[in-house]
Amino acid sequence: MAAPPYFIAVDLGATKILSLVSTPAGEVLGRDRRPTLARGGPKVVLSQLEASIRSAARRAGVSLEGAQALGIASPGPIDLTAGVVRNPPNLPGWKGVPLRRLLAERLGLPVVLENDATAAAVGEHAFGAGRGLKYMVYVTVSTGIGGGIIIDGRPYRGKGGSGGELGHIIVQAYDGPQCGCGARGCIEALASGRAIAARAQELLAQGKAPVLAQLIGPRQEVTAKTVAQAARAGDPHCRALMEEAGRLLGLALTSYAHIFDPEAIVVGGGVSRAGPLLWRPMRASFAANTMSQLKKGLLLLPSRLKDAAGALGMVYILAGSLA
Ligand SMILES: [Zn+2]
Repeated sequence: MAAPPYFIAVDLGATKILSLVSTPAGEVLGRDRRPTLARGGPKVVLSQLEASIRSAARRAGVSLEGAQALGIASPGPIDLTAGVVRNPPNLPGWKGVPLRRLLAERLGLPVVLENDATAAAVGEHAFGAGRGLKYMVYVTVSTGIGGGIIIDGRPYRGKGGSGGELGHIIVQAYDGPQCGCGARGCIEALASGRAIAARAQELLAQGKAPVLAQLIGPRQEVTAKTVAQAARAGDPHCRALMEEAGRLLGLALTSYAHIFDPEAIVVGGGVSRAGPLLWRPMRASFAANTMSQLKKGLLLLPSRLKDAAGALGMVYILAGSLA
């Protein structure tokens, strides 16, 4: 009997690389996960990608040459036509890297490149929380905030492949904090992991977060995760910070609902795993501000695939592109 077809799917993130070997149906045969040495620049990361892919194939017990194709999800902005990663803010030194060609040359496989948030939306839609839906919005709240949109069962990419920059919806115009994109008051500048950590740093500097200070110890490394831990341990300012982030995220979700009228908004990313601390205020502000006819039948759902959403989305995209 001939071996079943399999794909290699990779999610390149600013903090981790996840490589999967998977059947077209999303059955994972082998995986490799490692922290991204982003500071090393594109050369180092490219070698890491190759090592991670080879390791996943080894663990799956398959040959790289036997794979049908390789799909890679990368932080944007991306030129999808040229297969080039332009200048992602979280990948230092990346300026117009022809990732599709470089990986194809290194590995001898056809390569498909996709925006990471779009890939994650496709993954949740094909295999996760949004299975079977026609209209779905996916938001990932991690270091930054990204998103993807499913319309009529298909990903929406816009005219240049950059559609779905959901982190840059403006919720506090004019006097809002500066965002990395150049605008002010984007939801990413207010409620992303990076924004939460920056606000917590201010609290620490003012001596207002004693529980957090104790929790992080002398390393003084603050992340949204440690802020959530401190909030759970009873730090009132950290709790207020998480609540504020949740409220603002709820407002962003309201705007997505008003624009797209989806059946579900799926929320993923590391910060979304803070639990009720974030979800309760998020659901409350969403419920208070969304028009009733759009709220009716709309589900706010946590991501089901977690870190694997992007890579599994690439599996689905590959299966479709070769069908
Ligand atoms: Zn922005």
